[in-house]
Amino acid sequence: MRKIYIDFDGVILDTIKSTYDLMDELGVDKYNVKEARIFYRTLDWRKTLENTPQIHHSVDTLKKLMEIEEIELCVLTHIVSYDEGVAKIDYLKKRIPSLPVILVPKEFSKAEVVNPKDAILVDDYTLNLKEWKRKGGIGIKFSTIKKENEFPVITNLDEIFDLTDK
Ligand SMILES: [Mg+2]
Repeated sequence: MRKIYIDFDGVILDTIKSTYDLMDELGVDKYNVKEARIFYRTLDWRKTLENTPQIHHSVDTLKKLMEIEEIELCVLTHIVSYDEGVAKIDYLKKRIPSLPVILVPKEFSKAEVVNPKDAILVDDYTLNLKEWKRKGGIGIKFSTIKKENEFPVITNLDEIFDLTDK
């Protein structure tokens, strides 16, 4: 049984783009760390997630992956606020009730909160993968555009099916 942790933002939902667009709309300077932090902490996360497009039908793919007995899926996502955590769990429970979700406060790395040993992390943020690997985990870079990376790159969650064949 292989544990596979899946990132949320930039892998399941395109929240990076949707929140950047919203910041532009509201006149928030997204490159100003302090302004951006306040924006994310006060954001209506439930509404935001409902209005954010999935990346390549990610929910349907996750549902199919849940049926594979050889793997154990879990969502592992960073959060900046309590409201964000509630909204993400709500979003996933509504669509894939049996999929476990682990919330990681932004102050910690993902590799500090769960044990990465021999587990796979699919994440769009390379620094998360480096830390994961350093602690004995296997990193897979998610990117919607195929590109070179020190980690194997997948552009669609359905490529996890190929990984489990090996
Ligand atoms: Mg991400």
